[in-house]
Amino acid sequence: MEIESEEENNTDNSNNEYELATKLKDIGFLRMPEKCICGNTRLNIQKLNSNKPSGIVYRCTNYKYKHTYNIRKNSFFEPFKRLKLNIVLETVKCMLCKQMNIEKTKIYLENTIKEKISKPSIRKIFKYVRETIKKYYEIEYVSEIFGEKNANDVFAIDESLFTHTINNQPVWVIGAINNRTKNFRLETVFNRDSEILKKFVNKYIDKGNTIVSDGWAGYSFLNNNPAYNHIVHIHGGGDFGFGITSTSYIEGLWSNIKSKIKMIYHIIPSFNFISFLRESEFRIKNNKKNYEVLLIEFFKCFDCTKNLENTIISDAHIFLHDSDFNANSSNDEDDSSSD
Ligand SMILES: [Zn+2]
Repeated sequence: MEIESEEENNTDNSNNEYELATKLKDIGFLRMPEKCICGNTRLNIQKLNSNKPSGIVYRCTNYKYKHTYNIRKNSFFEPFKRLKLNIVLETVKCMLCKQMNIEKTKIYLENTIKEKISKPSIRKIFKYVRETIKKYYEIEYVSEIFGEKNANDVFAIDESLFTHTINNQPVWVIGAINNRTKNFRLETVFNRDSEILKKFVNKYIDKGNTIVSDGWAGYSFLNNNPAYNHIVHIHGGGDFGFGITSTSYIEGLWSNIKSKIKMIYHIIPSFNFISFLRESEFRIKNNKKNYEVLLIEFFKCFDCTKNLENTIISDAHIFLHDSDFNANSSNDEDDSSSD
């Protein structure tokens, strides 16, 4: 399967756009209505005015009525109706696959793809990608906890302070990783007190599993707790454990996320920290996938959030999320490196 259409020397861009629209429809990134309002179930994709981004439509084959439909309706491309499909798709690719920031994306689109796009437009696409991923993990976290379960699983749990934030407002993150599957869960929190850690453990780790932690006093509720088997490694004493009961995977995860954030954004806003955290999470969980597979994964997230748009996810916000931070700094919302 091929998503791109990068025939650089082809001067008829409208043809490329039409071909891309057809491909995106075929792989499900654009949705054709199942039925026209006249009842006809046969629709085509058609080029009406090839010079406009909105010039490609779905058209009912019942020509008596000339019914047409917006090809972007209910798709990821819907909010960006003034931008060509190709530009939107390439921007998503720059962000998620090429790990570029806004600045680099603009340069790449202009120099390599030969398309003009403003920074606010790129920023809008980046934000929509990030919000989509954030929403997707809210759903995924609630519905499918740690994937396949096993009573013998060992979870390493830890907290980490993220300091590369605008306004110097550091953010605490709690994480747990299944040392067997390497699947993990992360939440932003006000602090790392025992009550908060307890809530996290109760939410994500099944009774009967083994929990590995460092010697932080907040985990003392796990000592002599019949619900969990608790293994403590005192890091100060040089003990990190070995293999399946070690804390090294969770420690590695922190440095992986921090280096990704630092590489792409340098620093990020603390009040919308969760969306950047989820974005890093998506990058790590889909690491080593090629462009096409990664884009498919992303559009799957989008479909999932779209299908469940009206579903209330009741317990997704028991931890600290963006709305809990001071919202008066909402102007520097996005990537600090963008201007
Ligand atoms: Zn019709």
